[in-house]
This record gives sequence, C-alpha cells and structure tokens, in this order.
Amino acid sequence: MAVTARPDREITRAIHRLFIEATLTDKPGLILCYLTRVPALFLFNVAIPLQVAYCLQAIINKHFDQVGHYVLLIFLCAIGYAVLWSIGGVVISRNGVKGSSYIQRAVFRNYLQKDYDFYSNTYFGALGAQAVQLRSVYSEYCQIFALGGPTQAVTIVFGIGVIAWKSPILALVTLVAMGAVLSYTILFSRWRLRLRRELSEANSELAGIVGDALTHGATVKSFASDEYEERRLSKELKVWGSAQYRTWVSSIPADDGRMLLAAGATGVLLLMAAHMYQAGDISIGIVALVQLYVIRMVAATQAVADLIKQYEVVMGSAYQTMKTMLVEPTVLDPETPKRLPGGRQPITFENITYRYDDADKGTAAISRFTLTVAPGEKIGLVGYSGSGKTTLTKLLLRFMDTTEGSITIGGVDLRELKQRELREYIAYVPQEPLLFHRTVRENIAYGRPSASNKEIEQASEMAYVDEFVGQLPKGYDTLVGERGVKLSGGQRQRVAIARAILKDAPVLVLDEATSALDSRSEKFIQSALWRLMKDRTALVVAHRLSTIQRMDRIVVMDKGHIVQIGSHDELLRDKTGIYARLWAHQSGGYVGVPTKEEQPDANL
Ligand code: ADP
Ligand code: MG
Repeated sequence: MAVTARPDREITRAIHRLFIEATLTDKPGLILCYLTRVPALFLFNVAIPLQVAYCLQAIINKHFDQVGHYVLLIFLCAIGYAVLWSIGGVVISRNGVKGSSYIQRAVFRNYLQKDYDFYSNTYFGALGAQAVQLRSVYSEYCQIFALGGPTQAVTIVFGIGVIAWKSPILALVTLVAMGAVLSYTILFSRWRLRLRRELSEANSELAGIVGDALTHGATVKSFASDEYEERRLSKELKVWGSAQYRTWVSSIPADDGRMLLAAGATGVLLLMAAHMYQAGDISIGIVALVQLYVIRMVAATQAVADLIKQYEVVMGSAYQTMKTMLVEPTVLDPETPKRLPGGRQPITFENITYRYDDADKGTAAISRFTLTVAPGEKIGLVGYSGSGKTTLTKLLLRFMDTTEGSITIGGVDLRELKQRELREYIAYVPQEPLLFHRTVRENIAYGRPSASNKEIEQASEMAYVDEFVGQLPKGYDTLVGERGVKLSGGQRQRVAIARAILKDAPVLVLDEATSALDSRSEKFIQSALWRLMKDRTALVVAHRLSTIQRMDRIVVMDKGHIVQIGSHDELLRDKTGIYARLWAHQSGGYVGVPTKEEQPDANL
C-alpha cells in the first residue's frame, strides 16, 4: 500500500470539512438552535444584570418601592431564558445524534473502501478504535463550534456592548485584557496541538497492540506468551506515557499564565472604575454594573480558553483517523464503466506481471503470465507454495491492479469495469476463509442476502454443511465466533463453499478450498464442486492434485511463471516435470524428502 503522507494542514482542513458536513445534515435544527439560544443569552447576559444594576441603584437611592418591580422583571427574564435554552438543548441533541451517525457512517464507508492490502497492513484493533472514536470526537467538536463558541461569542459581544455603553474606556481596556489572555492561550495551543497529534498516534498504536493480542488470545495462550505480550505493551506504553505526560504537563504553564493575566486585568479594571467614581465620572451603580460584567468577561475568557484547549484535544484525537481516511484507494472504479457482455465469456491474462510494494526490487510474484480460459473451461492451478497462485486469483478479482499487462473478461479490461460488477460475476472461496462473527445461516447467506431459508439449506446440503450443522448447539443459528473460530478449518471451508454455491456466479475461483478437509469430506466436496462447476468457468487452485485431476487443463506455476500446461495425463508424460514429481509424492501416499531442486521457498 503506497501511503503518501499528507501535510498536517490538509488533515486539519479535512477534519473541519467532514465535521461541518455532519452538522449541516440537520440545517433546520441548527438554525432553530441559534434562534432560541441567542435570545436566551441576551436575557441572561444583558437583561438580567441590567435589572440587577438598576435594582442596586434604586436601593442606593432609597427607592425601595421599585425593588419588587425589578425582582419581578429578573424572575420573568430567568423563566424566558430557561424555556428558550431548553428548547435549544432539545434541538441540538437531535442534531448531534444525526451528525454523529453521519460521521460514523462516513468513517465506516471510507475504511471499507480501502485497497485490499490496507487490511493486511494495519492493526484491526487500531482501526476499530479510530473508527468509533471519531464519533465521540465529533460531539466535542459540536460543543465547541455549535454550542460553546457561539455562546461565549454572544456573551462577550453583549458584555462589551454594555460596558462600552456606560464607559468606552473601560470597554477598551477589557477588550485588550481579553485579547492578551486569549493570544497567550492560542500561542500555547499551537505547540500543544503537535503534542496532541503525537499522543493520538501513540493511542492508536496502543489500541492496535491491545487489539492484536486479544484477537489472537488463543495463540497467546498456546505459546504461554502473555508475559511477552505484556512486555510489548509496556514498550508501547512508554511511548504513550511520554506523549501523555508532556501533554498534561504542558497545560500547567498555559493555565497558570492565563490565571495571572486574568487576575491582573480584573485588578486594573477595578482600580480604573474606582478612580472614575472618585472623579465623579460614573455613579456607584455603574461601578457595580461594570464589575458585574468584568467578572462575566473573565469567566467568558476562561471559557473560550477552555474551548481552545478542547479544540486541541479534538483535532489531536481526530488526526490519526483522518490521516487514515485520506489514504486514497488505488484500485478505483472507472468514470465511465463498461458492462460485461452477457453469457459466458473467455477470461484472458495478457502478459501480466505483478510486484508487491514491499517485495525486493525485481522479484515479481507474477511474471509475464499469459493464459486464456475459454468460457466454461475448468482450469487447475498448481505449484509450490509461494509460486503466485493466490496472487493470480487476487488479480482476477482486482484486489489490486497488475503492474504490467492486462486481464480481460469477454474483451473488457477489468479496470474498465465497476468493481461491484466484477465481484458479483465471480464466486470466490479464499485460501483461509474467515467467517463473520454471525450465525452459520447469516454467513452462508452472505453469498446472496436475498436467498430464502430453503435455498440456504439447499446450498448447505451441496457443500455438506448440513452434515455438521445439526451437531451445533443452535444449528444454523449458532454464532461461529470471531473469524469463525468455533468451527474447524474444514467446516469453515464448507461454509465458504456453500456461500459460493448460493452466490451462483458465472465464474468460480477456489483457492485451495479443499485443503483443510479430510479425505472423506474432500470426496463429498469434490462431487459438490463438480456439480457447482457445471456450466461455469472455474479456476481452482489446489494443493491436493486429486482435486484437479479431472480439470480440462492444469497450469503448473513456478516463481510466477507458467512452467507446464496441459491435462493431467499430458502433464504426467513429462516425467521430470514439477507436476509428475508432485503427483508421485501424493499418489503413492509417500511423501519423500524433496530433492534440493524441489524444495520450495522457505515460505512453504
Ligand atoms: P501461493 O499462493 O502460490 O502460495 P502467493 O501468491 O501467496 O503464492 O505468493 C507469491 C509470492 O508473493 C510469495 O513470494 C509471497 O511471499 C509474496 N506475497 C504474497 N502476498 C504478499 C503481500 N501481501 N505482500 C508482499 N508479498 C506478498
Ligand atoms: Mg496461496
């Protein structure tokens, strides 16, 4: 997988874009929220303090008869505020749920549309954690931009407005003081954002390590390697610990500085107000009013500073997920896809070469491979482990694109087709079929979700799933465990074959689909497979040559090349060929020590 590093700024922009899109999924809700919350804030921040100040002034002036009137007004404003604020709260909660679901779907879709190799190169635990985390990060983002930010902005605008109305000078000083506190916070926040990103990466790695060990809990147990796994975790915890420690500690000078600045500003404003009162420029009521607002402004400034801090956390936490989201798949649908011609079609591999990204320079998994499979033809693929058989099947399914050459079905290049159409055209049973942690029935129905129970059971019979399903505690409704671990390898393969039978596609690709079966089940499955292959084009990779003996043609591969091709009998005639040697090993029931030449690569 070629990962191009994106600049951080681009990642930040993409996070904003996605989150704003999510918020806008419910525009009326958003508008209604502002329509209720802004007047509510006006009542709370302007109307109520003003009445308090007037009431104070009335007491000072000994107009006690007016006090009740002001108290009533304050009470009414408070009720108005509570009603409006609550309506806003209900509306924004609904908006939040819609937006969060949008985010969750977006990450899910994005992660499921990655290249095939993405899934083999990434920790599942980390991916799962990232995909879920973004949703909660989004609700914090909303807190900042849709709720907290505007609330504080409105509070500040109203507050400064009222102070300026009574004393422009004091308003100016308040503004400068607030500016100083916020600039100081922002300055720190840029530095802290970098730390947050490091922390996000460390968190993700940590989730990956924990997830990986837990996913393979059974393997860990069998090797009694829990302590080893814990040491691995401890190593990563050190990286995480250092990042987490620095982020936590870094907030200390930021918070302290802010507090000091805020306290200093309050003192200066108090002194100025006292001085102005002494000079007779303002009345004591105004002094009280201004102080009331100054305290409120200090609180608002603190709140904004907290929002900035929260913003760092949000952007830091979303960073890793967005970085993954921006990894573009390289296997893409064409802009103007062609359709496959109807009926059975030939499949042509035209001089194809494929090199894995991380392979040594020059070593190709498939190298200048040319083959035409006639419609309805059944091809067996054999060769030592590592000779490129699986790679060839993956190329046919277009899990990746050929490095050179092209594969066509009925004359249409795979790259000109919609991936969906191609994959619907082929039923594929992979080398290690992994099942979903769902019921046996659901796993089989995956081949065709619209299939009826009767069809599912017919497919199960054909694949001899019914042989063991009766022994499962809940029959077809038994959960198979993560990746299907509660079934034996052979049972898993049979479920995968039933799934392929149900899919009923014109082309069948089996990658060692019978390797995990005992010879008795293999016999059964073979007859099922022959029934399945009837009238279909089939490409069958087999380790056991008995599985493919009756194929129209057998292709023997070595190091990505075709070294032999022909029917079973034809191939056996070449006594020195790989096929004859493989056959001799298997048919005599005697597997001798391979000669040096025969020894497959180390990855057998
Ligand atoms: P076979 O199915 O015949 O055993 P494969 O097609 O799985 O062989 O592998 C062919 C070669 O490609 C091997 O050398 C293998 O190590 C290499 N290979 C397979 N998958 C990958 C991968 N995802 N990344 C890098 N190399 C790979
Ligand atoms: Mg293989």
